[in-house]
Parts: sequence; C-alpha cells; structure tokens
Amino acid sequence: MQPLTELGDEALLDAVAASGGQPFQGRQVLHWLWRHGAEDFAQMANVPQRLRTALAARFVVRGSTLASASLASDGTEKLLLRLGDGETVECVLIPEGERTTLCISTQVGCPVRCVFCASGMDGVRRNLTTGEIVEQVLVARRRLPPGRRLTNLVVMGMGEPMLNLDALLPALQRIHDPAGIDMGARRITVSTSGYPRQMERFAAADPAYNLAVSLHAADDVLRRRLVPTAGHSVAEIVAAAHRYFGRKGREVTYEVVLLEGMNDRPEDAVALVETLGGLPCTVNLIPWNPVDELAAGGQLRRPAAVRVDAFAAALRRGGLKVTVRRQRGADQAAACGQLRRRELMAPPTGDRGSPTA
Ligand code: SF4
Repeated sequence: MQPLTELGDEALLDAVAASGGQPFQGRQVLHWLWRHGAEDFAQMANVPQRLRTALAARFVVRGSTLASASLASDGTEKLLLRLGDGETVECVLIPEGERTTLCISTQVGCPVRCVFCASGMDGVRRNLTTGEIVEQVLVARRRLPPGRRLTNLVVMGMGEPMLNLDALLPALQRIHDPAGIDMGARRITVSTSGYPRQMERFAAADPAYNLAVSLHAADDVLRRRLVPTAGHSVAEIVAAAHRYFGRKGREVTYEVVLLEGMNDRPEDAVALVETLGGLPCTVNLIPWNPVDELAAGGQLRRPAAVRVDAFAAALRRGGLKVTVRRQRGADQAAACGQLRRRELMAPPTGDRGSPTA
C-alpha cells in the first residue's frame, strides 16, 4: 500500500475527500503526518474513526520502519531504517551543545564509489523516494529527548544527492514548509561530489539551501584516484559552485576527507589554496573515519592530529577559512554506510534487532 508520505498536499486532500472526509479533515491528517509525526492512523485522535478506517484500507502512514539504533558514547545516534522493499538506509543524529544535526541519505548505496567510503563499496541499488527521504527526518525527530529539537539537516549520508533531485527537491520543500516540518532553508545543507549540470538545477530551485562540495583534492589526477567516477574536472566543479554562490548568495563549503600521505601533503594544501584562494568559501577538513574493510589494505590511513593541524595551518596561511570536523560516534560505526554494511554482512537470524523508537 502507498505511504501517505509519498503524497503531495493536493493528492492527500483528494485521497481524504475520496475516502468521505471533509477538506478540514484533510488538513488535520496533514497536520498529524508532518507536525506530530504520527506513525499510524490510530494516533490521529481528532480524525473520525470511519475516515481513518477508509484511509487505512488504501494507505499506510509511512513506508519505512526503524530497524536498529546505535548510540555512541558522545551522544551521536546512528539509525538504520528498513524501507518498504526490505532495503536499508542510514541516518545519523548528532547532538552538539544546543544544536542537533541530522544527516540523511538520498540513495540506497552510492554510485560515486569514493575509495574511502563504505556506502560506495557495493555501488548503488536505487534512488530513495521523496517519502523515504522525509521519513528519515520524521523517524529521527521522534528519537529526541523532550526539550531538544532538530536544528540542522545535512544531506550527506548515503548516495549522491544531485543524482536524485527529482525526489530530493520535493522532500526538501516538505522539510522546509512552515506548514510541514518547518526547518529554515539556512539550516539545510546539501552535499555533492560535483555534478555541474545538476548543481545548476539545484540553484534554480527555491528556497536557497546551503551547498557543500566534496572536493577532497584540487589536483584532477589525485581527485580521480579518490573519486574514481568523477566525470568533471575540479575547475568545472568549482566554477559551478561559484555560480551557485552568485545566484543564491550562500557561501559554499568545500569538504576534504583527509587521508594520510594521499591528500594531506604540503603540496595538496598549496593546490587547494591556488584553486580556492579568493573565493567566498570555507574548507571543512574531515580526518578519515576508518572503515575496517577499506583500512585493511593499509593504503588508507587516518592522519594524526599533528598532520591535520599542519594542513589546516597551511590553508589558513593561504587565506582560506578552515574548519576541522572532530570525529563523532567513533564507537558506533561512525563512517557513512558502515551500519548498513554490517547489517548486510550479518548472518540471517530470526530477530533482526529490536527498534526502540
Ligand atoms: S563519500 Fe558520499 S559520494 Fe562518495 S561514495 Fe560515499 S556516499 Fe557516495
């Protein structure tokens, strides 16, 4: 059965009308769905039982369920969601002071196959639907303790967001909509590994979300070693990102996952300064979160703090704004895609974990 989360407002109001409901009852259902995050029809207390029964004959409220949750000692919580067809995706809740950020996925797996990422190891299986993208927010929101609310959203989980804009753009609308989940566009960041044509389309969409570009290296040969499917040069990607800034007025963040001896050398810092110097941007350095299967060969290593500091200092001397992301959730398969891989690799059992939502 189709989940209500897949319906736009008009379609949902039509469905309520076709089930014998009044327009105001359709708005009540919308309110239960997006504001209260109702998980089933029984929770829609002010909707008449007759209407709930009629809707339940044709729809489910959501298509995905929480398969497992792992809480790290620093408060980071990784959630594994099981989709209607049995596939799984990850999202991560990251509390930090007053702020709580949710990182969500846009695809099952990822076609980009960055050499350091667990999500790309098995390629992509399919795009997420609009409902599946928004449901990550609904599920995660219910995990928050009283008094804490979701303040930021980053679309940086499994998948390449620019390759699923058809589903992502309406999902972001829903998340941003004041009558829906009501998260300000300034608090929403979409990350891409660099697809200039799709970045143009993203720039044409309203409102103005933040854009992050996973650059990793400014040298094309090195970048293709790290992002083997890269189809565009660094110059093309940076130009597209700069056009985004010109159109939206939002400073772009360039993400660099640092790997010892590969892209954290002094010459790599020089290349970044030459490429990004003078542009209104911030460089976010992310020391690699080791993934067992990828670290096993010994070629990929997380750089020591002293190397990260030296790299950051070289960028700053070159005039760039730099942030360094500290490791979160290290004791709970922190790297993107690890939880899902663990689940895929686990021998089948009768009980696949007990959700605690
Ligand atoms: S780092 Fe991002 S773009 Fe690269 S394979 Fe992983 S999910 Fe895909």
